[in-house]
Amino acid sequence: TKEKSLNFIEQIIEEDLKNGLPTEKLHFRFPPEPNGYLHIGHASSICLNFGLGLKYNAPVNLRFDDTNPSKEEQEFVDAIKQDVEWLGYKWANEVYASDYFQQLYDWAIQMIKDGKAYVDSQTSEVMAQQKGTPSTVGVDSPYRNRSIEENLDLFERMKNGEFEEGAHILRAKIDMSHKNMLMRDPIMYRIIKKAHHRTKDAWCIYPMYDWAHGESDYIESISHSFCTLEFLPHRELYDWFLDQVVTEDNIRPKQREFARRNLSHTVVSKRKLARLVSEGHVTAWDDPRMSTISGLRRRGYTAASIRNYADTIGIAKRDNLIDVSLLEFCIREDLNKIAPRVMAVLDPVKLVITNYPEGQEEWLDAENNPEEEVMTYRKVPFSKELYIEREDFKEEANSKFFRLTLGKEVRLKNAYIIKGESVVKDEHGNITEIHATYDADSRSGSGSEASKRKVKGTIHWVSAAHAVEAEVRIYDRLFVDENPDGNKEVDFLEFVNPNSLEIVKGYLEPSLSTAKEGDKFQFQRMGYFCVDKDSKPNQLVFNKTVGLRDTWAK
Ligand code: ATP
Ligand code: MG
Ligand code: MG
Repeated sequence: TKEKSLNFIEQIIEEDLKNGLPTEKLHFRFPPEPNGYLHIGHASSICLNFGLGLKYNAPVNLRFDDTNPSKEEQEFVDAIKQDVEWLGYKWANEVYASDYFQQLYDWAIQMIKDGKAYVDSQTSEVMAQQKGTPSTVGVDSPYRNRSIEENLDLFERMKNGEFEEGAHILRAKIDMSHKNMLMRDPIMYRIIKKAHHRTKDAWCIYPMYDWAHGESDYIESISHSFCTLEFLPHRELYDWFLDQVVTEDNIRPKQREFARRNLSHTVVSKRKLARLVSEGHVTAWDDPRMSTISGLRRRGYTAASIRNYADTIGIAKRDNLIDVSLLEFCIREDLNKIAPRVMAVLDPVKLVITNYPEGQEEWLDAENNPEEEVMTYRKVPFSKELYIEREDFKEEANSKFFRLTLGKEVRLKNAYIIKGESVVKDEHGNITEIHATYDADSRSGSGSEASKRKVKGTIHWVSAAHAVEAEVRIYDRLFVDENPDGNKEVDFLEFVNPNSLEIVKGYLEPSLSTAKEGDKFQFQRMGYFCVDKDSKPNQLVFNKTVGLRDTWAK
């Protein structure tokens, strides 16, 4: 059997195994910052790390990178856990960078004692200036050669809350003329006087990402720390910080980078998604138009479709924009297999079968899903007055119109062949009723000769008296531009589509009256729909997940 070729991340791992890393030392992590909800970009990272865990039977930690209390909240921690679980993955350990604050602090003290870190007391503007540019060397801070005693004293007092935010910071003492700007005495700690969602008021100094991340990996014995490409220049600093603490007998983690995955017609950045919520462009983080995992779930996406999407795009070494039609393809493919077919009319016009007996109703058999191995059926009511889709009728039509028109026959799905006879119009000329006759011998599945008659078109319908009314939310792309984030001159919110939500009243076959939140259906000929969490008994709300085919006009 031919094996799927290894991606470059797997090649890195295989190489390490070949060079003597024992398989049982493999250990991965997914490290979200709890400053927002996870989005479809994160799904790539989740599927990569947890996928490697499954492939190598290695543990994967869910690590919250919670080092900045001004942006992080418990709500986000809870949402992230829910989303990772929903995607179908199990973490070995739920861990927090904040678990390591004491250890990180102790290591920082050791670095001060070793002459590797110092307290700087200048303003951030001055320090930024002194850093220089890639083509110039930096300038040493006048505090760079503070005595170890003074540094230890100031750092302890920073920790004890004696200073205001911005008064002092702790910096690593590396090289102010280093060609990598990140190595020019980077900040390790800053004062933030905010309660932390876990450590509360225990700390008022917080470690920077670069200082906390590699050391957290080390503490957890992570073998491979995969992150996105923007961290490539940080790798040197990641390694330098590890050099300060790694002891021989412990595994030394390795940072490697892969490309960020961006999706067209949306944004994938927690900060930007947060603005969509706070500035009222959507209702919440889980608004079905959002690129968040929770938004996609509410929209009707399945976990399998998102995993399949992540798997299909794979991982790459260069950033690029993935067309959202690929994501839509993945959900369509999954829903085609699992979603029961039902009939719903979203833009109704009344159809009267003039030769059908007044007051009669019959319950016809309707196939649930032609993809099923063993076919199952449900009953749908048929009667004299029906609703059909307004666009499924034209008074006069050319020979390419395979729907209902006057004088021609069409099949009503799961029911009879009918023929258009006449229309009733209001004083503005709008059609209020279509009158048709039916062939009583043509019932689908009856086995009669007439039932086997071939007519050109089949349309869906619901019985007017039996129809269940529901609110149906139809979504368009949230952004009119393919890459709203791509133009640094223009704020992405300029590209928000003002018509991304249309609400209509739908008329559904009565089998849907018992549908529950999250249930997914194909409304035949209309697309895939799911029950929204805003539904109440007798007040169903549906979200359109995706159309039946890719009809997006490019
Ligand atoms: P955001 O800008 O949305 O906050 P982030 O990278 O700051 O993104 P983190 O919470 O730090 O968000 O991300 C956790 C992990 O997910 C990181 O390893 C990060 O590199 C990865 N990740 C985030 N966005 C993407 C993306 N668009 N494609 C692939 N991986 C991503
Ligand atoms: Mg981050
Ligand atoms: Mg971020």
